[in-house]
Amino acid sequence: MTSKPSVIVEPAREVPVLLDVDVVVAGAGSAGPMAAIAAARQGVKVVLIERFGALGGNLTVGMNSKPSGLLPGGIPLEFWERAQEIGAAGSRYVADIGKGNIGLTAPCDPEMAKILLARMCAEAGVQILFEAMVVAPIVEDNQMKGVIIECKDGRRAILAKVVIDCTADGDVAASAGAPFIVGSEEGAMQPVSMYFKMNEVDMDRFAEWARNHPEDVTERYISPDRPEYGIWATGFERMLKKFQAETGIKLQRENITLKTAYGKTEVFCNSTRVIGASGLSVLDISNAIMELYRQIEANARFFKENVPGFENAYINGISSMLGVRETRHILGDYILTGEDVTTGRHFEDSIAVDLAAMDIHDVKGSLVRFESYPPYEIPYRCLVPQKIDQVLVAGRCISNDHVAHGRTRNIPACMATGQAAGFAAAVAVKTGRVVREVDVNSVQELILATGMPIDARQVEI
Ligand SMILES: Cc1cc2nc3c(=O)[nH]c(=O)nc-3n(C[C@H](O)[C@H](O)[C@H](O)COP(=O)(O)OP(=O)(O)OC[C@H]3O[C@@H](n4cnc5c(N)ncnc54)[C@H](O)[C@@H]3O)c2cc1C
Repeated sequence: MTSKPSVIVEPAREVPVLLDVDVVVAGAGSAGPMAAIAAARQGVKVVLIERFGALGGNLTVGMNSKPSGLLPGGIPLEFWERAQEIGAAGSRYVADIGKGNIGLTAPCDPEMAKILLARMCAEAGVQILFEAMVVAPIVEDNQMKGVIIECKDGRRAILAKVVIDCTADGDVAASAGAPFIVGSEEGAMQPVSMYFKMNEVDMDRFAEWARNHPEDVTERYISPDRPEYGIWATGFERMLKKFQAETGIKLQRENITLKTAYGKTEVFCNSTRVIGASGLSVLDISNAIMELYRQIEANARFFKENVPGFENAYINGISSMLGVRETRHILGDYILTGEDVTTGRHFEDSIAVDLAAMDIHDVKGSLVRFESYPPYEIPYRCLVPQKIDQVLVAGRCISNDHVAHGRTRNIPACMATGQAAGFAAAVAVKTGRVVREVDVNSVQELILATGMPIDARQVEI
């Protein structure tokens, strides 16, 4: 009897070239569209490639909807203000997080955000490839020359002068040989979750209860007049303990967050968790989604039976993607540290100021560290992977340690690094320089012209 092979050798094949462009942006979550828009506005030819049939990633498909911090400027703020103009986002607010206050950007309507992101890309001249998965880099002599995609047409090559990896996991840079770490020093990653939403919530009743029960809703913002955008409620600790003790149902979180994002009767629930699952393993991802479905049903029961206003509520949407908080940190020419982001260290090559919260979900337990810190700066070198040329990273996978990632993984920094990578790629293309040696002053000038601050010392909050 012959034993089954553990590997299969694929035959070499010819791959048709579909497009030849200046800049490829791989992945279109928070970071990707900002990168694509920034580059295209500089007049270079840009293709944005997304595996799903919608833009926005975690922000929209993942139902996240809300940056954990104020957007200080740039294309990210422009996007939010345009969403507000069409009634697809609320106004910023200040939430009480128990240990102090934090300014938060009010949520957007994830469905309208998909349309608006696509519109802004189209206006800038970005070509979007939906439902196309970037599966391999094209690398010659350590220089990225483009990417291979898998799509309905089959396998196709896209040639480019610069590739920006906005896949959140650093798929492109890592497969090209850029060094990376995964999670913390011990290799532990923040847990995965899955958003869902419930409809037919009696919002006035819920808001009234949340306002009057600070012992249960320990961190909150309850808008006096705009509940459809203005409820952010975290806590429920002792209620969850009681529910688990009474029902024998096991949940994974000590506290949970509910928020409204447009619908007048709709609440978005960030209340699930699986520890120890790797967002880089298809088996882990699949097992986690099965477990999260169990938790979503249990959570919905918890809300209906225990939280005033939820009596008639039902599940009316579940994220179509696993919510992954942490995987690869691609190592760049600088590795941002926890100390840098908590002390607001100044960098000459800063490309953005970020105001987001420190948000670290315990890698082993059920706690969440959600804290406010002063503004900090992100240096350009965190976007430039070591060893491989002509690739930049932006979004969740930039170069940092586990603690710094607790701030940079939030939407504001993902968008800001996307914008900076887009401008840097355009400057590199136009000046014929490699991205590692791009004139950072020119990139900073473009960033400042958008209204995005780069010096944290000058930012008042
Ligand atoms: C449950 C949860 C709650 C969160 N809550 C908040 C919050 O309240 N506030 C906040 O600011 N942040 C929050 N975050 C963090 C934040 O949402 C993300 O870190 C951020 O949106 C990541 O942006 P990104 O663009 O790097 O990645 P993503 O949003 O993940 O986008 C990556 C995109 O690339 C695509 N892609 C991936 N691989 C490929 C490929 N090979 N080919 C083609 N396309 C590809 C994906 O489909 C996706 O659209 C939360 C995260 C989670 C998981």
